Amino acid sequence: MKITFWGAARTVTGSMHLIQTSGNRYLLDCGLYQGHRKEAAERNSEFPFPPSSIRGVILSHAHIDHSGNLPNLVKKGFGGPIYTTSATVDLCEAMLKDSAFLQEKDAAFLSKRHQRRKALDTATDNGVVQPLYTQEDAEKAMQQFEAVPLYTPKTLDAELGYESYDAGHILGSTAILLHYHENGKRIRVAYSGDAGRPNQSIIRDPDALPPVDYVIMESTYGDRLHQGLEAVAGKLADIVNRTCQRGGKIIVPAFAVGRTQQLVILLHELRNQNRIPSIPIFVDSPLAVDVTKIFRKHAECFDAETREYLLKGEDPFGFRNLRYVTEVGESKALNDLRGPFMIISASGMCEGGRILHHLKNSIEDPRNTVLVTGFMAENTLGRKIVEKMVEVPIFGEPVRLRAEVAKLNELSGHADQHELVEWVKPMAKELKKIFLVHGEPTQSAALAKVLTERYGVETVIPERGETVELA
Ligand SMILES: [Zn+2]
Repeated sequence: MKITFWGAARTVTGSMHLIQTSGNRYLLDCGLYQGHRKEAAERNSEFPFPPSSIRGVILSHAHIDHSGNLPNLVKKGFGGPIYTTSATVDLCEAMLKDSAFLQEKDAAFLSKRHQRRKALDTATDNGVVQPLYTQEDAEKAMQQFEAVPLYTPKTLDAELGYESYDAGHILGSTAILLHYHENGKRIRVAYSGDAGRPNQSIIRDPDALPPVDYVIMESTYGDRLHQGLEAVAGKLADIVNRTCQRGGKIIVPAFAVGRTQQLVILLHELRNQNRIPSIPIFVDSPLAVDVTKIFRKHAECFDAETREYLLKGEDPFGFRNLRYVTEVGESKALNDLRGPFMIISASGMCEGGRILHHLKNSIEDPRNTVLVTGFMAENTLGRKIVEKMVEVPIFGEPVRLRAEVAKLNELSGHADQHELVEWVKPMAKELKKIFLVHGEPTQSAALAKVLTERYGVETVIPERGETVELA
């Protein structure tokens, strides 16, 4: 069997790996690539293989950088099933539609700009910009989803099958164990998807996988160690308290799935313990609201603590002072509100969505804080904010960044170096090779070194488009 690394190779977004058996082709994930606008548009719109040649997709989890190009794959001719967990199916329904809505809005904005430029300069190309896919395309892709429960062997064809394990990354997230049989030979390949962390709130810890021959794994935080969760609560309380003392606002760009719900639970606990003042907290994202509903529906994915919360009749995702905002008017009204208060809004890497308005409206005031809770990919607005550039572009205009920028990497759903190394342990006995994906080069290289030292296994960092034969 062969694997070609078409996405998230030496970068963190656009996860997509092509599996070729003797007769069939499958994809592991089909995510959106994020980064420079032009490059992203080119990479996402065309596939390096005919989509109609793919027999099925195995989807590790719902995050857009793993699922976000599925509607385009379907639009370009893929007609097969998309296998994933039931919670991921529900999350994708909300997320892919939201992604399509953002693509449509973006395309309309660019078309309008082209037309305006055309009026000034006849040499400018007047092409109308088409969205990568529409809400209709997203709905069509949803019809091809097929829910497969965890730990349940799924036969794909005479040679290939898989089963999924809890990845402990977000609701419904999985690691995939592929079984390949050919001429009496068996090959087992584990794919981490995004490797989660033990002791995260809401969801269960990552499962241990059985021994395998090959591992394909993420390396987002390949050279970092996260602090323990108690330290995180303290850090969050400090950030909230000092911003409140300045009378400022706290603006939190957060992924609508996972991070937002975790933050809400953590804030809920801090408030219960009287460690932060009773300030208004707004979750301003229609998607986060939908996703929170989906969380409530999938209690089968919860850990023991969250189940207990529910049993006591407490709603972990709701408390006094917390408001979920869906209407645009209500979102705009937040602009006129005086601090202190907190707004949690998407998108996580500040590449679109309502967070842009809140950032534009807040980052010039040094009383305010931008609280960064997740990994910001290269060339995204989020990364520019983390790097504390003096000026950052928002809606094409430079805005001075004078607000405090605070980081809370520990809330990340991604395992740190130590956790990644430990994740490999139960699989290591007969391991032949590890392939590192989903990491920037320095992160992957650091992890490769540690893995090789610890397990004595060759660890490689494939380039985009590189094909390997697994035997
Ligand atoms: Zn993820």
